[in-house]
Amino acid sequence: MTPQLCLERIPSRSIYEHIQPRLCQCIQGHTGAHQEFPYLAQLNQGVYKPIANKIKRDATMTTGAAWKSKEAGPNRILRWVMLLPDEELEQYDIVMRALKPQVVAKLREKAASYESCMAVAKKLTWLVYQMPGAPLPPPEITSYLEAHFGPMQSDSTTCMVCHLPLPFELFFKAARGKAEIETGHRNPRLHDVDNVGFAHRECNIAQGNKTLPEFYLWIRDILQRVDAP
Ligand SMILES: [Zn+2]
Ligand SMILES: [Zn+2]
Repeated sequence: MTPQLCLERIPSRSIYEHIQPRLCQCIQGHTGAHQEFPYLAQLNQGVYKPIANKIKRDATMTTGAAWKSKEAGPNRILRWVMLLPDEELEQYDIVMRALKPQVVAKLREKAASYESCMAVAKKLTWLVYQMPGAPLPPPEITSYLEAHFGPMQSDSTTCMVCHLPLPFELFFKAARGKAEIETGHRNPRLHDVDNVGFAHRECNIAQGNKTLPEFYLWIRDILQRVDAP
């Protein structure tokens, strides 16, 4: 299903550049500048910009501790950097053996290849445009996203946990600085295109570290005990 992409190297000043160069994701033979996120052109503008930034961040970066300390580990780091062995990470001042085992496990389970991260960003964008109230994408973005994931259907994106519709406007609602929509994972230890989606913040928090099937069984068992006479 994936169309042929340009994949030309895009120069960057990142210290992680030689681990994985940034690659142009435009369709092969495109005109204009090479771009890593061409399909975010509309969401990169004006009031939508935080949504584009969220898609890029959630697709490519691990979430880590909210504070910065040697013990807590890096706050956010590129997911593909977390694929490197401990010795190589030390060259970037990331000392895994100085971290608590739970922190290391958490960082390692967020690791993903560059290709996976690029595919996840596209999938999230495809889902955003199918949220109730989402703007209509320009035709070139529609055809780009549909070439990857199939036809888009307006108003069809639901919370991957509770299956209620996820209105686009929830991106602009935040409680105590936390957005009402989060990127979710069917299996929290797998960052790939078949496993990601959006969820209400509360639903994502409730799911926690469980896979969705584990979570539903957990809820079902609770309800059975609660309802037992
Ligand atoms: Zn290109
Ligand atoms: Zn939900």
